[in-house]
Amino acid sequence: MSEHTFATLVSRWYERNARDLPWRVPGVGAWAILVSEVMLQQTPVVRVLPAYEAWLARWPTPAALAADTPAEAIRMWGRLGYPRRAMRLHDCAVAIVERHGGEVPDRLEQLLALPGVGTYTARAVAAFAYGQRHPVVDTNVRRVVCRAVAGEPDAGPATRPADLVATEELLPVEPAAAALASAAFMELGAVVCTARSPRCAACPVESICAWRASGQVAPAGPTRRPQRYAGTDRQVRGLLLAVLREASGPVPRQRLDQVWTDDVQRSRALAGLVTDGLVEPAGGESFRLAGDGPPTPAPALDA
Ligand code: SF4
Repeated sequence: MSEHTFATLVSRWYERNARDLPWRVPGVGAWAILVSEVMLQQTPVVRVLPAYEAWLARWPTPAALAADTPAEAIRMWGRLGYPRRAMRLHDCAVAIVERHGGEVPDRLEQLLALPGVGTYTARAVAAFAYGQRHPVVDTNVRRVVCRAVAGEPDAGPATRPADLVATEELLPVEPAAAALASAAFMELGAVVCTARSPRCAACPVESICAWRASGQVAPAGPTRRPQRYAGTDRQVRGLLLAVLREASGPVPRQRLDQVWTDDVQRSRALAGLVTDGLVEPAGGESFRLAGDGPPTPAPALDA
């Protein structure tokens, strides 16, 4: 397969079919793109949209967020899930102000040095905000490349250096065209070459897809099951955080005890929130969101 054929076909398809999303509006800015990328990592687009709009309306710049407390970031995160991302965005905003005068940097190594910004997010910002040529590899892109180029059904659970190399080889040389192709690969994986039911008849690379040509042999071994949520520590953490988000001050432990009957699991979930820096002791037997007041001595979590 010609790399250029692949990128050209997918990019042309993207230009005709891309979803109209606010972080794709020309000139939207690097901060907005960074916020969208962090939110989209573990949350579907439809849930991200209102949170993204509200977040940027309140904090249109890194400086605006950095001037607010981490507790407010956690409150605004609401029920998006995986709330450590709110802390990471706050830490990132502070670092952008301190190191880069409030402007999201455009160099990959500077982006990678920001707190909580990893391989994917740094390259996504460099490509989509600054039009640079970088392989932007999320789960969707990895799957598309694995299927269409390698002829394999799926790419496994984690992005590897080999995935970056394989994707970069598909990118056009010219940076703006490469950035467009990166967005196009992601979109193709998100809406056509999906994990469970690829719509090959609607795919722009059907005629050159290696997996399609090989007869689409299903992966060997058990299929991955969706993650359970009910009854997990994640659910308990979410319930505890919901109470703390709603409170305007410290919350007594007795109030938190009401959210879940299993004492051991509830204590473990609360301890996890404290360890992750999302929640902090607020004196006596009470807790609050991180940074929501002056420091206080920590009570024993298993009391
Ligand atoms: S032809 Fe099918 S398997 Fe191949 S890239 Fe397109 S949607 Fe995916």
